[in-house]
This record gives sequence, structure tokens and C-alpha cells, in this order.
Amino acid sequence: MDIFKFGGASVKDAEGVRNLFNIINTRKDNLIIVVSAMGKMTDALEVLCNAYFHKTEEAKESLQHIIDFHRKIISDLFGSHTEEVDAAVGKLYRELQEILNSEPSLCYDYEYDRIICFGELLSTTIIAYYLEKQGRKAKFVDIRKCLITDQNYRNACINPELSAQLCRKAFTFQDTFMYITQGFIAGTTTNQTTTLGREGSDYTAALLANLLDAENVTIWKDVPGIMNADPKLYPNTEIIGKLSYKEAIELSNCGAKVIHPKTIKPLQNKGIPLYVRSFLYPESHGSVIREMDEKLKLPPIYIDKANQLLLTLSPRDFSFIAEEKLSRIFATLAKYRLRLNLMQNSAITFSFCIDHNETIFESFINELHDEYEVLYNKNVRLLTIRHYTDDIIHQLTCNKNVLVEQRSRLTARFVVTNDTPESEN
Ligand code: ASP
Ligand code: MG
Repeated sequence: MDIFKFGGASVKDAEGVRNLFNIINTRKDNLIIVVSAMGKMTDALEVLCNAYFHKTEEAKESLQHIIDFHRKIISDLFGSHTEEVDAAVGKLYRELQEILNSEPSLCYDYEYDRIICFGELLSTTIIAYYLEKQGRKAKFVDIRKCLITDQNYRNACINPELSAQLCRKAFTFQDTFMYITQGFIAGTTTNQTTTLGREGSDYTAALLANLLDAENVTIWKDVPGIMNADPKLYPNTEIIGKLSYKEAIELSNCGAKVIHPKTIKPLQNKGIPLYVRSFLYPESHGSVIREMDEKLKLPPIYIDKANQLLLTLSPRDFSFIAEEKLSRIFATLAKYRLRLNLMQNSAITFSFCIDHNETIFESFINELHDEYEVLYNKNVRLLTIRHYTDDIIHQLTCNKNVLVEQRSRLTARFVVTNDTPESEN
């Protein structure tokens, strides 16, 4: 059995859904299709959720935008024969409307998950009806009933034993050889909806592969495979045809956007290969990530993470940055759901880079402020070069203002800016 995952960009319009059909239409083996919300619908649902939670005027307008977006795709795909799909989609809108009519609870993350899931529920419903109309019925599975998590809303943690049991019951392949289900969303034992973190559909595909012992996973992307740099930022990029799990997990952890960092572990644990292929050129091979015996010679790989915030904390009482202080800093980061992209410490300073988020910036800094002097640089970039050479480093950094530098045997990382540091003092 194989697993195909289609992200939002691959099903952003009717053309994309037709293309998905063409890709799966030639398949004869057992297949699970995992799909994300269409286009930018998760972002749109975030706007809706904020409006609902904070009771602002925007809710009505943003719901209308979501309805119109899907309506256009439905009418492009089904012409005038939309009764059945309309009925199924209408049921979802009624459920959503019921939530929106009710008073929000105090827990934002809980409300977020129960609203955001409609992106995936709508996309899989529409696509399931379309596949059936084209004569390739795929059985619809509501993944919330079989991928079971804890109640850590927005970043839920899977219960592997229970999920394995339920997934094996749901995906039996007895009366069908094709299933369609949602990425990113999951559920609790008490039927609450949870999610696995933004862009988490890759992770869903990997989890299902692990729990069901799939032969392989293919992620269909708008890039030809795993590239050694972002073609929009660097000239002369090339596809990396083969990568080890270890290389892939390092790359995604350094910020390579092509796959979600959590995707690799479930696949590596069962030795399941991951293919990254282009939905625009489905005949080309793309890249494969798997266990590699041979020591592959890889080209230099560049990862450029923009919009970073570099912070340097120094204890006001001149005490060492030791375990206790670090654990409190980490707890504050966890509270704000901030992930460290790079860190470095000295006797009395701790510097780290995180994705900049203007909405939480001030309150985050305020929490640290009593204990530390806080220096920061907004809008810096974190450059990573795997398999670097001295020449490459020179070329890349010679005309830049380097604030932090780290080098290991395979990886060189630089926080760069042209600005001068700002301070809250
Ligand atoms: N639709 C979700 C998101 O945009 C999950 C995903 O695309 O992987 O974050
Ligand atoms: Mg998405």
C-alpha cells in the first residue's frame, strides 16, 4: 500500500483537483490519499477563528470568502450537477455555523482546532465526490476517528497504540483499494478535534505509513523534488535525487520548507521511503529519502530563513547562564510556542534565533525583561549551508554583517543583517 499526500497548493483550484485525479487514475495498487485544505483556506479559517474568538465584525465576511472560494471550485468541477456535493458541503457549513453561533469557550487553542479542521473536511469531501463522478471512487475516512491524540490543541501528540488499532480497522482495503482522508487534523478519545501543527499534513501521511506499514509515501509538491537551494533566491540550483533520513531531518530542521520536520521520524522508524515529486510534472522522478548504505556526495545545500528575531539575554544580576536559567527561558519559549532555530551561550549571555512574530513580540520580551537585559535584532536572516566549503562561506558572507556564526563538520550557520542592534533599554 502506498500513501500519496497532496498539499493545499496542489488543490488550489479545479485544475488542481483534475490534476490529482490524473495522477491517481493510473494507479492499480492500494492507495491512501491524504489531502490538505485547498489553497490558502487554513489561513482564511485562522482569520475566521480570530474574528469568532474576539467577536469582531470580520467573521461574516471571512466565512463568505471561504464559502465563495469552495463554491467556485465546485461549480468548475461539477457544472450544474452539484446537488450531492452541495448537500455534503452544506452539512459541513451548518456544523461550522453552529459553532460560530455559540459563545466561544475561554480556550483559544480548542476553538482554533474545531474551526480550522473545516479546511481539510471541505477539501476531502469535494475531492471524494469528484473522484466518484470520474468513476474512481475513493472511500472517505474521517481521520479524527482514527488518529487519536492527547488534548494539546494545535500541537497534539499522537497515541500510537490506539491510533494503530483504529487505523487498521478503518483502512482494511477489503471492499476498496483507494481511500481519501484529511491531513493535519486528528481527534481525542472524547471526540474533540485536534491538529498536529501548521503544515502538518506531511506528518499525517508519515504517521499513517508507520501505523499501517505502507510501502512508501509520496508528497506531491509544486517543486521538482528536493532542491539544493530555493530557486527563487539562488541561481543554478539542482535537484538532489537521493537523500538519507539523517540528511533530510537535518535539512528540514534547519528550515528547508520542502517537508515538515516531524515527517521523517515515523518513516525512518519503519524504513519507509519518502518520495518528493512534482504534481506539475508527474512523469519526472523527483527525490527519494530513505536509508542509504553508500556515503553520498551531496552538493552544498543552502537554506535561507528570513524574518528571524535574534535575541541576546544577559542576567541583570550578573549570574551565569546555567541550567536553571536555561530551563526557565525554555519554558517561556514553550509557553509562546516558539521554536529555537539557533542558540549560543557564553558565561552571562544566551543568544537565540526564533521566527519573528509581531503579535506576541512585546509580551514575550516583557516576560524576560525583569530578569534579563534584552538586546534584539528584528528582521535578520538565518543562513545555513550544509556541505560547505570555505569559498562558499566567503562568497555568501563577505558583504554581510554577521551577528552569530556556528560551524560544525557539515553545517555552517550565520545570522546576518545590515542593521545595527536595537535595545529595549
Ligand atoms: N492545511 C494545513 C496548513 O496549511 C496543513 C497543511 O497544509 O499541511 O497548515
Ligand atoms: Mg495547507
